[in-house]
Formats: sequence, structure tokens, C-alpha cells
Amino acid sequence: MSTENENRKIYFDTASTTPVRREVIDRIMDVMKNVYGNPSSLHDIGVEAKNIVSNSIYKICKKIGANSNKNEIIFTSGACEANTLAIEGLYKATKDKRFVLITTDIEHKSIMNLIKDGIEYAIVEYVPLYNREGSVKINELEKLCKKYSDEQYKVLVSIHSANNEIGTIQDIKKISEIAHKYNAIFHTDATQLFPYYKIDVEELGIDMLSMSGQKINAPKGIGFLYVKDGIELKPIIYGSQMNGVRGGTENVPYIAGLATAIDLLDYDNSNLINMQYYLFSKLSENNIDFITNGCLIRRLPNNINISIKDIDGESLLFFLNDLGIYVSSGSACNSVSTDISYVIKSVNYDENYSNGTIRITISKNTTKEDVDYFIDSLVAYINLNKHIKNK
Ligand code: PMP
Repeated sequence: MSTENENRKIYFDTASTTPVRREVIDRIMDVMKNVYGNPSSLHDIGVEAKNIVSNSIYKICKKIGANSNKNEIIFTSGACEANTLAIEGLYKATKDKRFVLITTDIEHKSIMNLIKDGIEYAIVEYVPLYNREGSVKINELEKLCKKYSDEQYKVLVSIHSANNEIGTIQDIKKISEIAHKYNAIFHTDATQLFPYYKIDVEELGIDMLSMSGQKINAPKGIGFLYVKDGIELKPIIYGSQMNGVRGGTENVPYIAGLATAIDLLDYDNSNLINMQYYLFSKLSENNIDFITNGCLIRRLPNNINISIKDIDGESLLFFLNDLGIYVSSGSACNSVSTDISYVIKSVNYDENYSNGTIRITISKNTTKEDVDYFIDSLVAYINLNKHIKNK
């Protein structure tokens, strides 16, 4: 590789996290410097802080079509907590009925691990998915909703809007229609879809929605759960804030920063779509033997997830890392494990390819030169790998 590439840094991991944008940093700094009050205090210093929280709620509600007068936004530390609060909170609030969770086996770890550990008396059903794509089979969802439509059950359908590993976008509107037809509540983890597509909770029939600031150029450690007015949740963190549903003094600067980041979302995906297409076409042009994971049509515009034949994804990740290219070999939350990811195992397992799985998640600033450099580096790795194997 030429010396001009020596100091290059190409961040292809926007599904893991994104850098905080300038306007968000400015807003956070401004609030941190000038507003130190506790929003629960009744005096003017507290009211000033409370007003920032209320304004932030107003901005968020406006963007997602929620009602800012109805306490529908609960700030959390991110989407892990929001997912836990939605599911465990509803489970704990269910008294006289049997709690049923209808979900998929490719949800984020926060949900998969909660199922293992946190809702032991619940009935859990996994909706079958289309192979390779990972999209929900709507008729199978309907069968499950119908099976539990009896009065004795309290049913929550929790299905992510888009998958963090393979980028497949689910048909949220259809899913919510089915859930509501059988009186179920519909929760969606919208963390990965939120940066790219406008989500109107009313229009899409979403009863609860989780998101995380770190995917939209806001800091880590802030996010929210939208809860439609009328749905009762028990807290998972006790205290008096957020109407008793989530204890802990509000992180006022980060809440203001989150609202700024949400306000600035423009949903202009044109460069992403061009670069995604360019990257896929370059992979084919270079005769790389790979399979694509996830749906090619209903797909996040930043996501390219492929499995390359006869290579090890983890070794490739470190090879690219040394060249200043940062990708993921699975999901970031999975990075301590070298196992093939549970998502790939569920939707597109092929023993000749799956070890060589990498996720490339591009950004709005990605250029053709970045993609070319990545492709050259990838080809170099594959050739090196062949050479070593043939020795
Ligand atoms: N859900 C999805 C789909 C995600 O991609 C992530 C972040 N990887 C989370 C939940 C958790 O977000 P956070 O770590 O910010 O709580």
C-alpha cells in the first residue's frame, strides 16, 4: 500500500457508535457551564433545568409524532436500558394475566439476555424469519398473536426496526397492525433505523420505542424509551424522576444534546446509498467469493455485511485495523467472543463462509477513495491468506 495511505483513518463502524457532532458538543457545553440545577428542585435554578428537559421532550415529540403533554418520553442511559424497561417494566406491571413475549431470535443482546434471566415466568415465542434476509414472516407472526389473543394473556410483540448486524429493516407498520389486531402491545428497538428514516409513532402504530443517542452523533449513555400514554410500566431503576418510572436525576446536558442531535437529523441518505452500492459492486468486480447477509432490498443504507469464503473475520479485522480501516467482525457488543454471531447462525449460516463475516458500516462522509482503499486492502488480505495456505 502506498505511503499516502499511512495516516489514513477510515471509520467503517457507525453501527457501533458515531462521533459526537459539533452542534451537540456546543449545546452540552453550554448547558453544563450555565445550567447546573436539579430539575426536581422547586426554586428558579431547578426550574431552569426542568425547562431544558421539557424543551428537549417537546423537540423529540415533534420529531417522532408523540404527545409532549403526556409524559411519553422516558430518558434512559441508552437503548439497552430502554429495551429492558419496556419488556421487564411491562412484565412486572402485569398482574392477573400470563405475560407473553413474541419476538425474534436476532434481537439485540439486551433483549436476548433479558429473556434468559429477567422474565422467568413469561411465555416467550420466536417468530420464524426468512432465511438469509432475517425478515419476519408476517403470517407466522399472525399465527402466534392469534394463539395468545385470549383474555388470560398480556401480549407484548417486541421486534427491532432494523438489525444492528445484518442491516435488515423490518416491516414495522405491518407488524404493528397484526399486533393490534390481536390486542397486543407493540415495542420496537429502533436504535439502528432512527438515524436514517423518519419514524412517526402514530403513523407506524408504535406503542413503545427504544433509541440510543450514540448512533445519531450524540454521546454514549443517553437515549430514551417512548411509551404511549396509557401503558403502565413498573420501574427497573427506582426513584421519583420521570413520573416514577425511571429513578435518577436527569442528565440535563446530555438530554439537551440528544434533543439537538434529533433536531438535526435530515434523513438524507443519498451518499450512503451510492457508497453502499459502489462497495457491493467493487466486491463483485474484484471476484471476491462472498455471500451477503441480510436483505438486499429492505436494508439500512449504511450497512454492508458479508461472509467471505475460507477466511477468518477476526484476523481480517486486525489486518485492516493496522491499515487504519475500522470494521466489525460481528456486533460490537459481541467483540469479546470469537464465536460466529448468533444473528448469522440464525439467518445465514454456511460453514464455508460464516467464519469470514465482517460488518462494514459507512457514514455520510464516506468517499469512493475510502471504499477503493478498503477494497485494495481486502484483496491484499485475501491474496496473502491464499499464499500462506498454499505454502
Ligand atoms: N439495540 C440496538 C439495535 C443496538 O444496535 C444497540 C447498540 N449496539 C443497543 C440496542 C444498545 O445501545 P446502548 O449500548 O447505547 O444502550
